Amino acid sequence: MNVAILCPVCSHATHFIGFQNGRLDGRRFHVNGCPSCHYAFVVNYRHDYSTIYDDDYYAGQGADPSVDYLHEIRHLESTIRVYEWEGLCKIFKDFFPEGGRWLDYGCGLAGLVEYAQHRGHSIIGCEYGWAASAAKQRGPLILSEDELAEHREAFDFVTLVEVLEHVADPIDLLRRIRTLMKPGGVLFLTTGNAQPWRSNLLKWSYTRCPDVHISFYEPQTVKLCLQASGFQAQTLNYGVGMESIIKFKILKNMRWFKYRSRYLDALPWSCFCRWADMRYQVSLHPYGVAL
Ligand SMILES: [Zn+2]
Repeated sequence: MNVAILCPVCSHATHFIGFQNGRLDGRRFHVNGCPSCHYAFVVNYRHDYSTIYDDDYYAGQGADPSVDYLHEIRHLESTIRVYEWEGLCKIFKDFFPEGGRWLDYGCGLAGLVEYAQHRGHSIIGCEYGWAASAAKQRGPLILSEDELAEHREAFDFVTLVEVLEHVADPIDLLRRIRTLMKPGGVLFLTTGNAQPWRSNLLKWSYTRCPDVHISFYEPQTVKLCLQASGFQAQTLNYGVGMESIIKFKILKNMRWFKYRSRYLDALPWSCFCRWADMRYQVSLHPYGVAL
C-alpha cells in the first residue's frame, strides 16, 4: 500500500506530478505537488551538499548551467547581475531610508554583500561550505548560522535571493531567520513563481535543475510559509526596485549579454519588464514583516 507523502507546508496529502532527470549523474527525481497550497517539491532530493555546491557549481559548470557566480564577483561592477543588486539596494532604501542592519542569507560568493558595502550599507552575509570559504578570502563579513546565534533580533532587513528553491523545509528556515530579525523587520525574498506553470510544472526552467532546485512555490504557498514562521505577509508595490530585478532575470534567461552597457540601458525596459512580469508574475510573491 502506498503511503501518502504529506505536504511540508500545509500537511495535506500530495500527489505525484512526474519525474525530472538531474544533470550531474543521471539521477531521476520524483516531483510531488500539493493540491491545497500548491507547494511542489523533489521527494528524493540530494543530501550530498558538498558535492553539488562545489567550485564547479559556482562557475556554472555544475547542476545549474545558467549561473556563473565566479564571473560575477570577478567583474563586480560590470556584469548584468548589477541590475539585480541595484534593485535590492533600492528596495532596502525604500524600506529603511535612514539605514539599518542588513543580512543577505544564502549569500553565495557574497557579490551582493560586497556591492552593497561599497555603497555604504551595513550588510553581512550568511553562507556555508565552499562558497563561504571562497567569499571570506575576499574580505566581506560572512558568518555561518551558528555564528549568527549571537545576532538574535539584530537585523532590520534580510534578503533571501533565489534561496527558497534550494531548501527542503522552507518553514524551518524562515523560523530560524525570524529569530535573527527585529520585530517590524522586513524579509524580502525572490524565487520563481510556479503559478503560471501549474498545468505543466515540469516544463518550467526552475524544475529542470532538480539536483539543486527542490522546492517550488506559488504566491499563496509563500504566504502560508511566512505566516507559519512569525511573519505577516505583504505585497510589494511593483516598481520599487522590482523592475531592475526583472531586468536582470530577462537578460540572464536570454544568455546573450554578460555585461551591462549603455546600449542595454537605452532599451525600453519599463515595457519589457511589465510584459515579463505579467507573463511570469514574479512580483506577486509576498515579503514578510517580522511580528
Ligand atoms: Zn500544501
